[in-house]
Amino acid sequence: MKIVSGEAIPICIPLKKIFVIASGKLVHSNHVLVRLTDENGIVGWGETTTFMEVYGYDQRALFHVLTDYLIPAVIGKKIDSLKELHRLLDQRIPHNLMAKAGIDLAVCDLMAKAQGLPMWAVIDKKRTDRVPLTGIVDIVSPSAASASAVEQAAQGFQTIKVKIGQDAATDIRRVKAVRESVCDGIRLRVDGNCGYDRETAWSVFSQMETLGLEWIEQPLPAWDLEGMAMLADRLKTPLAVDESVYTIHDAKRCIAMGAADVVNIKVPKCGGLFRCRELAALCEASGVACFLGGCIETTPGMAAAIHFYAATPNMVSAAEILGPPLYTDDLVMDPIHVVDGAAVLPQLPGLGITINEEKVSRYRIPVSS
Ligand SMILES: [Mg+2]
Repeated sequence: MKIVSGEAIPICIPLKKIFVIASGKLVHSNHVLVRLTDENGIVGWGETTTFMEVYGYDQRALFHVLTDYLIPAVIGKKIDSLKELHRLLDQRIPHNLMAKAGIDLAVCDLMAKAQGLPMWAVIDKKRTDRVPLTGIVDIVSPSAASASAVEQAAQGFQTIKVKIGQDAATDIRRVKAVRESVCDGIRLRVDGNCGYDRETAWSVFSQMETLGLEWIEQPLPAWDLEGMAMLADRLKTPLAVDESVYTIHDAKRCIAMGAADVVNIKVPKCGGLFRCRELAALCEASGVACFLGGCIETTPGMAAAIHFYAATPNMVSAAEILGPPLYTDDLVMDPIHVVDGAAVLPQLPGLGITINEEKVSRYRIPVSS
């Protein structure tokens, strides 16, 4: 397959409500679509995104890296595997995994469409047609958190993730309010987004040990692996890493130090499907659980993520990729169906969705590289 043209398209869609986590606030999407065309005129789409306060670069930087470095690195190149693609991208520039994810997904969409297959089929065997999803409660008042959790449980979500990490006392009240308002069968996870120091984390989680949490995610800064290892050792509740793990090298270090019982694998954060597969394989070989996290993707990104989940058996249920309903609009003709808290895997070739070009034009924003 030869890539003959490509373009990065920055997209801004407002969120229905501001999304608040310990490290920052999100008011609209920071997405960049990648459109690649092969020598037969087949178009592949990838979506990637960022969140400045979490990942350290903004949409303009993502667009710039894609437009000036990574897309030119693949134009005119014959690419027959994702491994080859990533070698090309890494030769051009190091790091920039979120930008590389956009190209990885577009190439994967192209490869699948060229063979007339759904994307999961170019990754591996399919293990499921339905992907259980988590509900999400961001940093809101305990009463608002409780109401939101009840509503999401009523929609069929069996797992709910509650954001914490901003104010210890309110965090405890928020999580307790949610625990008391949904039935015991609903699993709860909490995510601190690096918001605590060691002392605060120990104080908060020793009070949450009785709440039956599925796991506690990234309460400490990304760099504090010694602190994470200390918490993992002292707490009965499993500890998950997110901001500490981008690459397989990060994951190996966390696992070797005892800093991770569970690894959060996100398609944009980790650089696309090829690298996510490597991470999942490492977790499996190391006997460590892993799950599919999200970066509040719109439908093209969500589609790629659920194909990955469906073709990667050791990804633990439920997946955290319910971005599209949080936005005021979407970019596709055919949204992914979510039934009883589970996404239905698209069956059309490639991502299995149809991009709405009119919406792409409408939400495209002017960004100079
Ligand atoms: Mg997280």
